[in-house]
Amino acid sequence: MQNATLSVGDPIEGRCTKCRKNTAHVIVTMDEESPGKVQCTVCSREHKYRPPTAARKPAVRRTVDPKEVERQEWQALRPTMNPAKAADYTMTTAYKVNALINHPVFGLGVVQRVVGPQKIEVLFEDGRKTMRCQ
Ligand SMILES: [Zn+2]
Repeated sequence: MQNATLSVGDPIEGRCTKCRKNTAHVIVTMDEESPGKVQCTVCSREHKYRPPTAARKPAVRRTVDPKEVERQEWQALRPTMNPAKAADYTMTTAYKVNALINHPVFGLGVVQRVVGPQKIEVLFEDGRKTMRCQ
């Protein structure tokens, strides 16, 4: 492969492992027709030339926001909730699992678990919350 246009001192785009991205480099040494060592203009690191990696599509976010998961859970349950049957939340009520609660701040919620003495876990649109109860 002839590549007569490249020579020492030329700018070239390459992959920098320190910057972890494609950056502008300057050719330091030539290895016959291809760049040998290059210097990253961003971090000044000299390293063997690596061709730039193809632009990848933004990776699907691996970190799932637990709040978002809970919101979706709530939305999936929403059709089963009848607001007319929701009892206004009070700390002096004994709740059972699956009881529907109407909270002044969080809105409609479903009791999902009794987590301890006088504590229930309620799924609201805003996420899962531990509430006091009787
Ligand atoms: Zn770099």
